[in-house]
Amino acid sequence: MVRLLRPCCRLLLPNLSCRSHHNDSAKGKRLLLSRLYQPRNIWEEQSSHLESKSNERTSKSHKLMIRAGLIQSSSPGCFHFLPYTVRSIEKLIRLIDKEMHGIGGQKVDLTSLHPADLWRQSGRWDLMGKELFRLVDRHNQDYCLGPTHEEVVTHLVSSGGSIYHKQLPLLLYQITRKFRDEPRPCFGLIRSREFYMKDMYTFDATEEAAFQTYNEVCQAYSNIFSALGLNFVKVQADTGNIGGKISHEFQLPATIGEDRLLVCQGCGFSANVETLQPGERDCPSCKEKLTETKGIEIGHTFYLGTKYSHIFNATCYDSQAKPFVAEMGCYGIGVSRLLAASLEVLSTEDDIHWPGLIAPYQVCLIPPKKGSKESEAALVAESLYDEIIHSVCGLRGEIVLDDRNNLTIGKRVKEAQMMGYPFVVVVGRKALENPPVFEVRSHNAGEVQFLSREGLIDFLKTVQVI
Ligand SMILES: [Zn+2]
Repeated sequence: MVRLLRPCCRLLLPNLSCRSHHNDSAKGKRLLLSRLYQPRNIWEEQSSHLESKSNERTSKSHKLMIRAGLIQSSSPGCFHFLPYTVRSIEKLIRLIDKEMHGIGGQKVDLTSLHPADLWRQSGRWDLMGKELFRLVDRHNQDYCLGPTHEEVVTHLVSSGGSIYHKQLPLLLYQITRKFRDEPRPCFGLIRSREFYMKDMYTFDATEEAAFQTYNEVCQAYSNIFSALGLNFVKVQADTGNIGGKISHEFQLPATIGEDRLLVCQGCGFSANVETLQPGERDCPSCKEKLTETKGIEIGHTFYLGTKYSHIFNATCYDSQAKPFVAEMGCYGIGVSRLLAASLEVLSTEDDIHWPGLIAPYQVCLIPPKKGSKESEAALVAESLYDEIIHSVCGLRGEIVLDDRNNLTIGKRVKEAQMMGYPFVVVVGRKALENPPVFEVRSHNAGEVQFLSREGLIDFLKTVQVI
């Protein structure tokens, strides 16, 4: 019963009380900060390792993620994702899934181990050079670890027979680990050798239909980045070794960005420097002077045409049962890079700021210090915690109780700010007043409010959770 009701109250009725649905005791289920696995204070050790052994360049988000115990280095350009990061990535995946399902995307999970023959057929076994992680099995067969899946997915589709018009457009996507032997991994998850990527491959019968699909995917990408509150630009881009006819990059302007962009302040036109004629600095559409900025690439879209479908013989039938070589598109979002790049542009040097929707936990509740004047408010804090998870069911599993009551409130507030919890609720001296008052700090908005118990519950019901 509870299982059936949960999705409804979580997704459709987030503002209604769900006390009647979840009357199981919350006691013993409080999420205590002292129990969370969050290895800290390893930045010194890791930074000296990074600088002395691999010359890995670091960035603000890289340092913050290590300092906060979000990731840990495994080898150059490879990182373990620790619990806070996994929670955030899972939310990001839910957001991406929602948008991909919205345009008819179907999720698959393709192998990471690719037979070399497919890559030889497309010519990219040689073209990719040292970026491919290559390996040989016990039968002396060559393989690589997939950095992208055009060959594999087109072979899959063609070996499964033709695609009929009722299946069109066919949009297959996955969110899996990809591998690229970067010459200079740097900035933590921003340029790493093993990473999560969302890659989508689309199949249409005609160029016109494929172009419509292309625009729909681009719109879904814009929706994802907007939902994260990111100030992104969509720029015309080069098709590089993927090939194809049209390509756009979604870029996040940032000082550490490795792409150079030209942006028109007049009409909003923007392009990657590589795609413009050398020396051209005037906007091609309105003739304003273009200004240069640096960007981190967070998404890339390609209208491929028939390059891969021709090689692997992937055909579609239109509504008149006429066969066509499939018109393809491919679309990527660097999922782990997107997370790190968001922290890079939103955070300060000292404090993490998550896009609110994908913060690992939404609320940190801080009870008073043991032995302090207000220490009797500790009971108020516990009952408040229980009341929130009973009354605001969207926040179940989203509230951390900072039970390290040997530390002062001030010290824990400072640390909560470093961790970037979007909302910090302080149960201090004012919680003993009649009626009790709670301090609520909205980290991303930079606001502090003092609210009654009811006011606090109402406020928390407005928090967006995915
Ligand atoms: Zn312009």
